[in-house]
Amino acid sequence: MGEMSMSFLPFTRPTIDEETIADVAGVLRSGWITSGPKVQAFEAALSAYCGGRPVRAFSSGTAALEVALRLAKVGAGDTVITTPLTWVATANVILEVGATPVFVDVDPATRNIDLDQLAARITPQTKAIIPVDLAGLPVDRDRLYAIAGKHPLRVIEDAAQSFGATWNGQPIGTSFGDRRDFVAFSFHANKNLTTGEGGALVLPVDMDLALCERLRLQGFQRFADGGMDVDVLGGKFNLTDIAAAIGLGQLKRLDEFTARRRELVQRYFAGLDHTLGLQLPLADFANSNWHMFQVLLPDGTDRGAFIATMKEKGIGIGVHYPALHLFSLYRAMGFKPGDFPQAERIGAAIVTLPLFPAMQDADVDRVCAALTQTLTQALA
Ligand SMILES: *Cc1c(COP(=O)(O)O)cnc(C)c1O
Repeated sequence: MGEMSMSFLPFTRPTIDEETIADVAGVLRSGWITSGPKVQAFEAALSAYCGGRPVRAFSSGTAALEVALRLAKVGAGDTVITTPLTWVATANVILEVGATPVFVDVDPATRNIDLDQLAARITPQTKAIIPVDLAGLPVDRDRLYAIAGKHPLRVIEDAAQSFGATWNGQPIGTSFGDRRDFVAFSFHANKNLTTGEGGALVLPVDMDLALCERLRLQGFQRFADGGMDVDVLGGKFNLTDIAAAIGLGQLKRLDEFTARRRELVQRYFAGLDHTLGLQLPLADFANSNWHMFQVLLPDGTDRGAFIATMKEKGIGIGVHYPALHLFSLYRAMGFKPGDFPQAERIGAAIVTLPLFPAMQDADVDRVCAALTQTLTQALA
């Protein structure tokens, strides 16, 4: 067991370099560890990355999404369209602000929201749409904004997984629409750029940044004359300088990380046995940041048994994600099996194979071999 756990290959692992660790130690020794100069520097660096758009840092991607909905004035009586094939945070924030989620099934080629169906589901009650770039593959920004631009709604891009990805050469986080759109990033430990926990919100040009900051921290404001007030109910969503120092160190390595992920994925495409009946992801080496490399297991494979066997072979396999409308909370709202057949089929068969920048070529080969062995035995 000891030997096996030493060589265990997790499905992901952050790469934190010694320089970053030293910077974090510097923050810890500085006497100021909550939001301060490092957060400001991180926000400035993120803003530069996002073409100069205003960016505010948050304690999580979920918090950034929730504040985006509040800034877009989405609440009771409004509907928000999103995909059922995402991390549950995307839909939970819609409920959190009192609005109603409307799910649109995914396109099996991209596993992202089906834009034809999306266009048909927009109504006067639709206050916002939250497209998700699953696994780091961007939703087609040209088509998305062509559809959204015809309606008085806000786009809130859930780019939790697509930091470092591009669309037609332009980084995700820059503006593809009419600049009324929001972009939310997550810096959770598993994301391509991490701060341990954290997130950021890229804001539209017409937004009140001071209101965004109040929604981030208790609605509190301090005036130049020393007076104070709370005029709106805010959360407790600020990022720490400790986390921001990690983010600044990560940002320097982002392009390198993305390039290495692409190389490893190319090796997966070349090395996977194409006769096993696996369904591979769209081979996009122009836009995707390859946050995850996900395959659909062949029909009839027992996913639980597959994951257990791979674990015995020292390989960590993830599941991202079961279709979220089938969770109890959503079933209690009336959603049921059969509502979104593509998301359900994909969510039931999908597995995430190991992929992170520090992985070696030999690790990919090992995963491919173990996968062939496991599926050949399972299918025999
Ligand atoms: C990670 C993630 C979130 C939430 O981000 P947190 O930082 O964990 O709050 C939201 N949406 C998607 C698609 C995610 O992958």
